[in-house]
Amino acid sequence: MTKYSLPELPYDHAALEPHYSAEQVELHHDKHHAAYVTGANTTLEKLAQAREKADFATLNQLEKSLAFHISGHVLHSLLWRNMSPKGGGEPDGELAAAIKEHFGSFAGMKGQLSEACLSAQGSGWGTLAWEPLAKRLVVEQVYDHQGNIGNGTVPLLVIDMWEHAYYAQYRNEKAKWVEAFWKVVNWPDVTQRLAKVRGLDLSLG
Ligand code: MN
Repeated sequence: MTKYSLPELPYDHAALEPHYSAEQVELHHDKHHAAYVTGANTTLEKLAQAREKADFATLNQLEKSLAFHISGHVLHSLLWRNMSPKGGGEPDGELAAAIKEHFGSFAGMKGQLSEACLSAQGSGWGTLAWEPLAKRLVVEQVYDHQGNIGNGTVPLLVIDMWEHAYYAQYRNEKAKWVEAFWKVVNWPDVTQRLAKVRGLDLSLG
């Protein structure tokens, strides 16, 4: 059975400073992300035991736990790649064209995604995702790690709005975290993710 594992950061803990502090990155990656990896593996083990015993009394709880932890692991794995010490600015090429086509302008997409981050109630994420049925980009406001998303959408760019993502550095000023994220956003990473998923075909028939 595939075991999930914590990916190495593609840069040092301090590489994103001053926008994202070493303390904040270390806590977030080494502790919080690691907990989702452990949770996913533990849940898979419990599911295997349930199948072995043919005892599905807690299946509802285990399926919720599986969605929560796998989604947490997926989103955090993306998050680290979506940031770069050389990030910031605006995308160009294929990604810039797709954003203009589906949102009208880069500023329109950035405004919607920023607001999706800031208006999320409780713990959640703002994401730029690919919707493979209509083959278009969408902004989604994700609750926890797995709620309020369209089935089949593939996240390309994710911004973590759980308090643990920013509180050590920005306290209650989450707008400062969103502003900081735009200064380290890794557009080449988002561009190559878009190129990978564009060929997905969920058309009916
Ligand atoms: Mn997080």
